[in-house]
Amino acid sequence: MNLHEYQGKSILKSFGVAIQEGLVADTPDAAHEAAIKLAEETGTEWFVLKAQIHAGGRGKGTVSETGSHGVVLAKGLDKVKEVAAGILGGHLVTAQTSAEGKLVNKVLIAQDVYYPGETETEEYYMSVLLDRSSGKNIIMYSPEGGMDIEAVAEKTPELIYTETIDPGVGLQGFQARRIAFNLGLSGLAYKQMVKFTFKLYDAYLGCDASMFEINPVLKTSDNLIIAVDSKVSLDANALYRHPDYAAMRDKSEEDPAELAADEVGLNYVKLDGNVGCMVNGAGLAMATMDIIKLSGGEPANFLDVGGTADAARVEQAFRIILSDPSVKALLVNIFGGIVRCDRVAQGVVDAYRNMGNIEVPIIVRLQGTNAAEAKKLIDDSGLEVTSVILLQEAADAVAAVVA
Ligand code: GDP
Ligand code: MN
Repeated sequence: MNLHEYQGKSILKSFGVAIQEGLVADTPDAAHEAAIKLAEETGTEWFVLKAQIHAGGRGKGTVSETGSHGVVLAKGLDKVKEVAAGILGGHLVTAQTSAEGKLVNKVLIAQDVYYPGETETEEYYMSVLLDRSSGKNIIMYSPEGGMDIEAVAEKTPELIYTETIDPGVGLQGFQARRIAFNLGLSGLAYKQMVKFTFKLYDAYLGCDASMFEINPVLKTSDNLIIAVDSKVSLDANALYRHPDYAAMRDKSEEDPAELAADEVGLNYVKLDGNVGCMVNGAGLAMATMDIIKLSGGEPANFLDVGGTADAARVEQAFRIILSDPSVKALLVNIFGGIVRCDRVAQGVVDAYRNMGNIEVPIIVRLQGTNAAEAKKLIDDSGLEVTSVILLQEAADAVAAVVA
């Protein structure tokens, strides 16, 4: 589950990670109020306003209605309301959003931490994530942080460093010190970075995250190390341990079809292809996506209906898959182990009749308990449904419709 920047920062703060302080608001007036409060708490006179959407690249992004960027400095309390009005309620288009952009419902009013002082401010990149090939957490970091980390990765990959953490012993002192050293730090900033790295790693483990990306980590002009941005993804399977984090879910950021599926307990992931698929079991769903691809089609979704495939459930699944206008054919692939194929077939027939307006060809492959009865049920129904028993027949039928 992805979080907004302000939510991620609140988690970081609760684990003792130093952050750029801020308050969130959903109207220009509330933004003004928040700035007053923040000035009282932190003594700041300048603010930075940051659109809260589930996408990066906000600093360089543009709000299509107003032309404002997604991250804007407000040099004084009197500027906050106007800056907030340029961001809130508009659609922010960034390199990571679609062309329509994302509606901005909330803005974070944060203290300006790029104040002048004894030393230059510096921006670093740091992320913590699971490296699946080694099965270990890693800390990735670079002295070249800020808004162009993708370009750094492409042009100067040697400036991106990795520290692999042994799960048995955890992050070691020498590793945190090596990070601070490779970032070119000394003195107070060096010590601060060591502490920051330890706290950040603690937070990553403690909140059951699947990814942290802090870009930039800032060295302020007075040599403090703080998180200016936060991209936090939590492991959805661990949310039962963190009801307070589960409550941070922002459904308005999610795909409507995926949300509808989630509400009825279907595992649905929308993809970019043209052949919809409804399958029982995740393994069979993966195999079915492979068949679709081998037949010349592209899967339009992943959908696992799970163990029950009765008429109501088949209908829910059909409605969700067919709400995607790019679906040109639908492949139903069910293995009847516990579930009986004839019941599923009846479900398909009932759902089809109930919905009434299905225009895409449907191919049903039922194998397992009562497969022959199931095929007969569909063949006798008089509906525009092709029924097959073998996987190869299903593949051929898909190839015929997508050709
Ligand atoms: P992103 O573009 O979505 O990654 O948003 P960030 O939160 O990383 O902000 C983008 C950029 O805005 C940062 O890289 C900074 O250069 C700048 N920025 C963020 N906070 C401040 C601030 O307090 N003061 C100033 N002057 N710039 C800031
Ligand atoms: Mn950033």
